[in-house]
Amino acid sequence: MPDAAPSPAAHPVFAGQGTTIFETMSRLAQAHGAINLGQGFPDDPGAEDVRRAAADALMDGWNQYPPMMGLPALRQAVAAHAQRFYGLEVDWATQTIVGSGATELLAAALLALLNSGDEVVVFQPCYDAYVPMIRRAGGVPRLVTLRPPDWSFDVAELRAAVTPRTRLILLNTPHNPTAKVFSPEELAEIARLVDGTGIAVLCDEVYEHITFDGRPHVPLMTLPGLRQRTVRVGSAGKTFSLTGWKVGYASGPAGLIGLIAKAHQFLVFTTPPNLQAGVAYGLGKETAFFTSLADEMQRRRDRFVAGLAARGYRVLPCAGTYFCAIDVSPDEDVAFCQRLTAEHGVAAIPLSAFYPEQPWHGGVRFCFAKADAVLDAALARLPPA
Ligand code: PMP
Ligand code: GLN
Repeated sequence: MPDAAPSPAAHPVFAGQGTTIFETMSRLAQAHGAINLGQGFPDDPGAEDVRRAAADALMDGWNQYPPMMGLPALRQAVAAHAQRFYGLEVDWATQTIVGSGATELLAAALLALLNSGDEVVVFQPCYDAYVPMIRRAGGVPRLVTLRPPDWSFDVAELRAAVTPRTRLILLNTPHNPTAKVFSPEELAEIARLVDGTGIAVLCDEVYEHITFDGRPHVPLMTLPGLRQRTVRVGSAGKTFSLTGWKVGYASGPAGLIGLIAKAHQFLVFTTPPNLQAGVAYGLGKETAFFTSLADEMQRRRDRFVAGLAARGYRVLPCAGTYFCAIDVSPDEDVAFCQRLTAEHGVAAIPLSAFYPEQPWHGGVRFCFAKADAVLDAALARLPPA
């Protein structure tokens, strides 16, 4: 039976949406038996001891609803991690919350903090969930464009995007899809801009442990004056290479975390307790575990970027995350990715998919969080530029 026509009562933000580019390209990769360097996920199984901790909790632990805010053990681990890596004092009992992935916590924050017509400053290109979620929460995105090759922004453009209606700045660093890490000067500029205003900052820091070439990850929250207005969101998916777990955590001032909890309680309410136990164990692992994630991804970046360059592609700088991009003409990146998948057997993601508004910078994003043999096989399939 054919599907019914879309209901005219559907909300326009979702009625007008296609399927996300990640799902689309993964299905296309599957249909063509392509090597999938599109959707961002590592191809290794993730740390065995972290998985074991979750498996033990599944078999021996509590499998009924855990506390709405998250297991105390995980919330304590989130606070201890913030202290260990960034010197941040976080009260686990009032200033942390666990959710079903970073995405859920970002959605909860937008739903909880935005009133109809409130403006949200967001840098484009951006993770594809942001703008639909902002709009569905009644917000109005004010886009500031990052420009290649270094994906810097024009300070005047940023300043002009902030108005008396600005409620939030949504910042993602290290940044997907550009692999940019915002510099200390750029962070200071944002900090200056919100100083003395009522603007809150929502920081998507899911790639906090994947920065390269000795660059530190600096949470905006550590800057003077930012502690009281900033919420920081992390993800076990990225930090432990367990994207299917969908365990996220946020920390921030008690007032903002309390508001986010009001939305979280009616979205998912809780997150599977055994996975939380695994992540609580993981966040307590030795510091070398976290630094080796970045070292390993940097090694793969170097290998893959050298291979792309050897085939004649212009590779954009890659300072963090497990993505890198090549330049392709803006009108062609979608067709390029479709051709690459169907004819050459390598799936990738067009950069234009990360731009809510034109003009966009054309490019192709690859995920290099894969085994050497997989990266080499993909490189061997790529046509010369
Ligand atoms: N933010 C960014 C920038 C991402 O790349 C991702 C990747 N999935 C997410 C959020 C979502 O994280 P999670 O899977 O924990 O929801
Ligand atoms: N964050 C991942 C990426 O950018 C995928 C997320 C998803 O599939 N929704 O590729």
